[in-house]
Amino acid sequence: MHIFIIGAGLSGAVTARTLAEAGHKITVVESRDHLAGNCHTARCDQTGVMVHHYGPHIFHTDDVEVWDYVNSFALFRPYRNRVKSTVDGAVYSLPVNLHTINQFFGKTFRPDEARAFIEETQADRTITDPQSFEEQALRFVGPALYEAFFKGYTEKQWGCSPRDLPASILKRLPLRFNYDDNYFAHTFQGMPEAGYTAMVAAILDHPGIDLHLNTPYSEDMADRADHLIWTGPLDGYFNAKLGRLGYRTLDFERFTHEGDYQGCAVMNYGDAEVPWTRITEHKHFAPWESHEGSVLYRESARACGEDDIPYYPIRLVEEKALLSQYEALAAAEDGVSFLGRLGTYRYLDMDVTIREALNFARRFVAARS
Ligand code: UDP
Repeated sequence: MHIFIIGAGLSGAVTARTLAEAGHKITVVESRDHLAGNCHTARCDQTGVMVHHYGPHIFHTDDVEVWDYVNSFALFRPYRNRVKSTVDGAVYSLPVNLHTINQFFGKTFRPDEARAFIEETQADRTITDPQSFEEQALRFVGPALYEAFFKGYTEKQWGCSPRDLPASILKRLPLRFNYDDNYFAHTFQGMPEAGYTAMVAAILDHPGIDLHLNTPYSEDMADRADHLIWTGPLDGYFNAKLGRLGYRTLDFERFTHEGDYQGCAVMNYGDAEVPWTRITEHKHFAPWESHEGSVLYRESARACGEDDIPYYPIRLVEEKALLSQYEALAAAEDGVSFLGRLGTYRYLDMDVTIREALNFARRFVAARS
């Protein structure tokens, strides 16, 4: 079969590779001038720092097969994401852990004492089945930690009250009663030494794959293909005819510095008055390298306009209703499959994106053999 894949991010690349290995002829078209979608990385000419152009991407997973998969296309270096947060004139450790709790409350609790303190004096135990982000926070950390670390940050990030957001967003972050400040709780974590774009290039490097950058989708591609795989925005495929699905986009204010600006890769800003959510210092994502110069991004989020790059799907009640209408249209579309964060309008991490692409492509091959 001749299969057209729209988009050369992780979903497109992994699907292309799996289908090409099964003997299909694949054409991948990408509207941007680079591979890897929003995980795109490139070295800064002046400093030599590997810059995460669309914000930080740290690979972490519990999925052994996905970990082996990425390691077969790129050399991964050990990397531990250790995030700090500046709140009300002090710097704290994230995710909320024993150090954060002791520092914040001026205590010297041991683990069990901290757990009892939070549960008995902070957590709102009347909340039995937290639905919203706010309820989840009040139930597990209580109002003081919530206000300091989550409320302001989340309002800035999502542009709405945490009361209106699902608890699942906060469930991304662990709460720890020890000094483990590894941001992710997954077994495997690392960073591709040569960057994500090189990894995606390696995935797409197969004789059965024909790749075209700077090539927006045009409807004749669907006519030329036996099957089309769409990894762009779901509503975009239908020219947003039912209305636009809501996304948050990010603005990055890039600046450089001589030496070490903040001493860590990610510094969050919990205060609502600080306009940005975080500052990332990209050389710290590659601790095995050494650079004098430094490249930093001040990151802030806002509603995604028509010409902006979509990052985070906002899945509130209104969007979910519209999403189900688009899902119905997508299901009725013959010879087209929708994949990935944009194509399925979900907040997917890279490992899940790869897992879903592998599963999809294998089912596709099995159904046609
Ligand atoms: N979050 C927060 N304070 C922080 C970091 C995260 O309130 O200092 C909330 C915020 O709502 C964010 C969510 O937790 O959207 C998930 O955080 P994560 O670090 O996973 O976000 P990502 O890196 O994907 O933007």
